[in-house]
Formats: sequence, C-alpha cells, structure tokens
Amino acid sequence: MTHKLLIIRGDGIGPEVVEAALVVLARLGLDLELEEAPAGYACYQACGNPIPDSTIEAARRAEATLFGAVTTPPDIPNYRSAVVTLRKSLDLYANLRPVRSLGLKGGHYREGLDLYVVRENTEGLYSGQEEDFGDKATALRIITRHASERIVRYAFELAKKNGKRRVTIVHKANILRLSDGLFRRTALAVAEEYKADGIEAQELLVDTMAMRLIKDPENFEVIVTTNLFGDILSDEAAELVGGLGLAASGNIGLNGAIFEPVHGSAPDIAGKGIANPLATFLATAMLLQHINEAAASERLRQAVIKVIESGKVTPDLGGTANTRQVLEQVIQVL
Ligand code: NAD
Repeated sequence: MTHKLLIIRGDGIGPEVVEAALVVLARLGLDLELEEAPAGYACYQACGNPIPDSTIEAARRAEATLFGAVTTPPDIPNYRSAVVTLRKSLDLYANLRPVRSLGLKGGHYREGLDLYVVRENTEGLYSGQEEDFGDKATALRIITRHASERIVRYAFELAKKNGKRRVTIVHKANILRLSDGLFRRTALAVAEEYKADGIEAQELLVDTMAMRLIKDPENFEVIVTTNLFGDILSDEAAELVGGLGLAASGNIGLNGAIFEPVHGSAPDIAGKGIANPLATFLATAMLLQHINEAAASERLRQAVIKVIESGKVTPDLGGTANTRQVLEQVIQVL
C-alpha cells in the first residue's frame, strides 16, 4: 500500500534535519508518495501567511505529516504559530511523547525507561482565551468532559496496544476543584472500562508527579494529563533520556497526525551543519509506527540507538560529529 505523506521543512535547522530524514526514509525502501508544503516564518515573508490554507488541507489529506521546526517571531502582532494553528485546525487532540532510554550514559540520564506522556492538546490553560485589564490579565483554563474523555481513552488504548499495565492520571483536583475535578472524574470513569483489560489506573497530583519523575521514573508506564501539566512534565521526562536533541512528539487526531522533533528552529546554529538530526529520525520512527510500518520504525530506532552508543554524535550530546556524519552512520547501520 502506498503511504501518502506530507513533508513540512520549516525554518532554521528544520530544513536541515528534515533533509536528513528524507535520506533515511528513502533508505528504508517503503512505498511512499511524498508531498511538500510550506509553513513558518520564511513562508510568512514570502506570502504573508505562516500557514497557508493549502498546507492545512495537504496535512488533512495526508496519512501523516513530518514537520521540521518553525521560527515564531515574538514581535509581530497577531502572528499565528504555524504548528499551533495546524494542531487546532486538524483537531489533533493527543500529544504523544515517548520517553525511552536510548543508550546515553552518565549525568542525569536514566537507563531502562520506557514510558509515554500523553498530553491533552486542545484546551486547558492553552485555550487561547486571555484578557488584558491593564494591571491585571487573565487566561481561561477550559476543561471539558469531551476532551478529557477522549484523551484519557487515547492513553488507555495506547497502554493496551503496547502491553502497559498502568496509566497514571495526573491533575491538581485538590486546588482546581471544578476544572480538574471534572478531568479527574471523567478520567476515573474511563479507567473503569479498562479494568477488564487488566490495566490499572493510578492518580497523582502534578507536583508529586514532577518529583516522582526524578525519583523513580521507571515506575511509570503511561502518564495522561491536561495541556500545561503535560507540556511541562513531558519536557522534564525528555531530559532524563537525552533532552531536546532526542525528543520527538506526535500530534494525533481523527483528521490527521503530525510528527515532529520537539526542538525549535535553533537560529543560533542554523546553517552551520551541526544540528542533531536524531530527534527528527525518532519522530520519523513514530510516524512509521503510526502508519503501521512497525518493522521499519523499529529498524530506524535501533539504528539511532547504535549511533548514540558509538558516541559519534553532535555537540549538543557531547560529541564532535556534524549532521552529515550522523546521517551517514545511520545509513550505514540501516
Ligand atoms: P530551540 O529548540 O530552537 O533551541 C534551544 C537550544 O537548543 C538552542 O541553543 C539550539 O541551538 C539547541 N538545539 C535545538 N535543537 C537542536 C538540534 N536539533 N541540534 C542541536 N542543538 C539544538 O528553542 P528556542 O531557541 O527557544 O526557539 C527558537 C525558535 O524556534 C523560536 O522562534 C521558537 O518560537 C521556535 N520554536 C519552534 C518549535 C516548533 O517548531 N515546534 C518549538 C520550539 C520553539
């Protein structure tokens, strides 16, 4: 079966790491039909829109999208972040962040981790509803039963598919009694349905969860939570297994799926040829898993692990290799 994929390169190091990922994809020998579409600051400068409707439609049509990284300039009023607009337009409600040990040793890196952080991607404190009252400003934290139910169901289904036995529901319902109260009640009701599958639900307050991620992260399998808490916890967890240079994420919904490295466009190193492409390779592996090419996905992930173990990595991971050398090694292992 031909897989129709959309490629969005973006700005800064985005095009550099996506170019490397395309070489890797070609090497895997899959039946792919690739389409490209623009997004980001360069696109805005060229056509006055950081995310043209044609790009959104292309992402809707594609089986999955690989997204590099974009620059979001802070000083242009009403500028729409390309990636946030895509997530909203396609209602990509589940943000998925695998946290798996990849062979890095020493420092704060942890071995033996294999967990997922599942973050609600559409509401919470990122509802986009803020108001400025002069000396006071407010942000509306929206929690709905609908969004809570579907994200928690996504987490339990993920657990089921991946042989996980426990889902940890993270909230702050002791203080945010109404909003997180609704999230908690809804989550526990969904959890009841999965008891028969042998999947246990555990609940933790977000502050306790933040500590436990440092203290005993190996005791967690799937963590599901609201938007802001998930944003913070997923970055905290990512740091245990390599940080920005290795963190990949998926934004998944019924109208599409976008896979991307977590890092941004890194203007400080753009054009120098030293961007770490491994996070984008891992995002590509997630994409392959999503389109049911599990064997190719695992091949790629194992190749990334081999390269990390060799120590011939980019400066952000303590090595001296450049993007091209890392790519060449991955291709060689493949
Ligand atoms: P950043 O992730 O771009 O960079 C942070 C630091 O990490 C920099 O020192 C950078 O050199 C380094 N880094 C990031 N990715 C790397 C890689 N692959 N290899 C080696 N080093 C890497 O974050 P920032 O500097 O806060 O933001 C820069 C721009 O990116 C901003 O315009 C921001 O809005 C945007 N951004 C976009 C996304 C996205 O596209 N999803 C995410 C975050 C930030």
